Amino acid sequence: MSFQKLGLSESILKAIADQGYSNPTPIQVQSIPIILEKKDVLAGAQTGTGKTAGFTLPMLELLMQKNVKKQKHQIRALVLTPTRELAAQVENNIEIYSRYLPLTSAVVFGGVGINPQKAKLKKGVDILVATPGRLLDLVGQKSLDLSRVEFLVLDEADRMLDMGFIHDIKKVLALLPNHRQNLLFSATFSDSIKKLADNLLNEPALIEVARRNTSAESIAQAVYHVDKGRKKELLSHLIQKENWKQVLVFMRTKHGANKLTKQLELDGISAAAIHGNKSQGARTKALADFKAGSIRVLVATDIAARGIDIDQLPHVVNFELPNISEDYVHRIGRTGRAGNDGEAVSLVCIDEKDYLKDIEKLIKKDIKKIYEDGFDVDPSIKAEPIQRGRGGQQKGRGGRGGSQRSGSRNPNNSRGSNSSSGARGQRGSGNSRSQSNAHRGSNRGR
Ligand code: AMP
Repeated sequence: MSFQKLGLSESILKAIADQGYSNPTPIQVQSIPIILEKKDVLAGAQTGTGKTAGFTLPMLELLMQKNVKKQKHQIRALVLTPTRELAAQVENNIEIYSRYLPLTSAVVFGGVGINPQKAKLKKGVDILVATPGRLLDLVGQKSLDLSRVEFLVLDEADRMLDMGFIHDIKKVLALLPNHRQNLLFSATFSDSIKKLADNLLNEPALIEVARRNTSAESIAQAVYHVDKGRKKELLSHLIQKENWKQVLVFMRTKHGANKLTKQLELDGISAAAIHGNKSQGARTKALADFKAGSIRVLVATDIAARGIDIDQLPHVVNFELPNISEDYVHRIGRTGRAGNDGEAVSLVCIDEKDYLKDIEKLIKKDIKKIYEDGFDVDPSIKAEPIQRGRGGQQKGRGGRGGSQRSGSRNPNNSRGSNSSSGARGQRGSGNSRSQSNAHRGSNRGR
């Protein structure tokens, strides 16, 4: 299958050729013709599958077909994403794919000044990528008119619900015209996603690439059994021994991410941390340095890492296993993208044994176990409850009641109750909806 056969016009094909893509990915093969038929779509696609081009290319095509000498730019396509990083990245892709088209795009998210965003919107924008909170702030300040939206894309919808955005999403939907095409992308399909899809989508076409919750075949996975207190040492050892040049490390907490970064630096390994307590400028710089290769290790919390897209990222390390098994799939999806090989390594101590079991159950395979020489596990160490971040809450294994997801997905419980970081969520200052913001911010601030 070639891009030429998918019904895209020359200007779009040229932009794709510039990117060096030779063939569409499986999600693109499926989604492009269906979206061009103006159908609503419910797509199960993990990040790294090429889903962004999967929805952007046909959307651009349709926007151009209907581009009947519009007098001025107005928002005709709205893409909602859970995080700033993903929003920036999606908009960057849209800019690339639309470079030969007379369409304009912009991105808005919290944590940065609102005025430059207002100025950009004033000039006129056809395609807007946004995180929900800032979008509503801009609507509240009368800087946005969403009454002409023809396309709505919810990208990483599962993560938006995890982060407690459902109310914001509903508010946004109420601002849109009834007649529009809706595209919902999600890596997983919980009941709440199904409910959202039922309400939002009109006889959607279902697209699913890679089987749900299975980790990509191109990713080699391994577990190193190690004592908790020796994880930092083992990580430095592996990076040096294996000569890993570009490593994304996942940590459960911001504090942990900072501490690990310091230790790596002490070990002579260049590293930076990226999480919700860092300013947007610091996050952008860390990511740019990492992409450019001037930083060898990027240490990230789950939410901050969401949407990080680096071609051919070779190594992902779970310094700690995530307490939600699906997050494991998301995390290791950062490597092995678009058909490249990748390696995902998890450092697992005795406390995390049950998490590992849950993950293996979800991905339906046993992960290779490695005991590194010189890092023998001390059998006298007993398992302890796992410390979780978000305001120093502790959630013991017992609290999970044996179910991986119990008490974790609902933003009204442990994930959402840490208000200390709420004010540092995606939203800028000066908003009045503080109650729900603080509530959501705890997730976004991770
Ligand atoms: P996404 O799943 O949208 O985050 O895309 C993952 C990566 O795949 C991005 O770096 C894209 O630039 C890249 N990509 C998208 N489509 C293709 C394609 N047809 N061929 C090669 N790479 C692609």
